[in-house]
Amino acid sequence: MKQFRNNVIRAGLGALYFTGAHHLLRPIFSGVGTIFMLHHVRPRRDAEFQPNRHLEVAPDFLRAMLSHLRSRGIDIVTIDEMHQRLIERNFSRRFACFTLDDGYRDNRDFALPVMREFDAPLNVFVVSDFAEGTGKLWWIALEMVVARASSIEAMIADVATRLDTSAPAAKQAAFDRLHDWLRTLPGEHDIQREIAALCARHGVDELAICRELCMSWDELRLFADDPLVTIGAHSITHCNLARQAEDIASHEMAIGRARIESALQRPVVHLAYPYGDKIAAGAREFALARAAGFKTAVTTRPGMIFPESADHLTALPRVSLNGNYQDTRILPVLTSGAATAMWNGFRRIDAA
Ligand SMILES: [Zn+2]
Repeated sequence: MKQFRNNVIRAGLGALYFTGAHHLLRPIFSGVGTIFMLHHVRPRRDAEFQPNRHLEVAPDFLRAMLSHLRSRGIDIVTIDEMHQRLIERNFSRRFACFTLDDGYRDNRDFALPVMREFDAPLNVFVVSDFAEGTGKLWWIALEMVVARASSIEAMIADVATRLDTSAPAAKQAAFDRLHDWLRTLPGEHDIQREIAALCARHGVDELAICRELCMSWDELRLFADDPLVTIGAHSITHCNLARQAEDIASHEMAIGRARIESALQRPVVHLAYPYGDKIAAGAREFALARAAGFKTAVTTRPGMIFPESADHLTALPRVSLNGNYQDTRILPVLTSGAATAMWNGFRRIDAA
């Protein structure tokens, strides 16, 4: 199903490019700017089974996007500058803002050097438990379990299920099934319990993942000193905030931020909602982020920034630089807003 959806999206992006429709749609849907969303930036890997590939782009694809933006005369701004332009309604120049979620070490090793070539700033949203070395990146743990196992047994919706994971296609199908099941579980603890059991059965060291992939506080202190870098908050545990009781959701936002501020000795005023889609961030979370005093908060809902976005500063949409679509021909499609407009049924704002 996921593969099918990817193919449809790819065909849609391709169709927009080949018909030139993005040129016609640009004046209406390109808005005043774009917040780009990335996760990992690192060289391509050869493995056939890479179910989290959508979360990573290669440095050369990032370079191509930056070069494309520069060639169009689009300002690449800090998230503070974007906020300033929004509240001043200063839209005389188009802008792009780069945001990277979770605080991966490859952001420092591969993204920052490319950003530096263009003197372009970036904002990294840090999960405080990930920086602490105690976080659970369950989607990567699941990838490791499936990569390693030749079959997996799990109680899916109370039914004992055996999934074949002997070949890459079967692994992908099993991963999709387990991933979708885990995201429907009622609480974060349920996901963690199931993943911990899978990791124990298949010999995956769950805690090592966080320490291997994410920057520690010491590393973040040096990274944050770079003048191109802004650090934002991304909760304590990377839980689905919409599924938490209100006091827990507020705590995740406020304490996640406070831990970063005290470790890095600088104010943190921007937030990214973990997962950030409609089932993880809605009207209640937008209000909580506003009440917590964040200047902006970004979702993973696809969309461009329009002048009206200034009225919804804690519900900002982004454009994903998705590892499944690293084709330089889609760059003008992404900056035209045509793709996200299509996704949103040609609505400009989706902040409910
Ligand atoms: Zn995240």
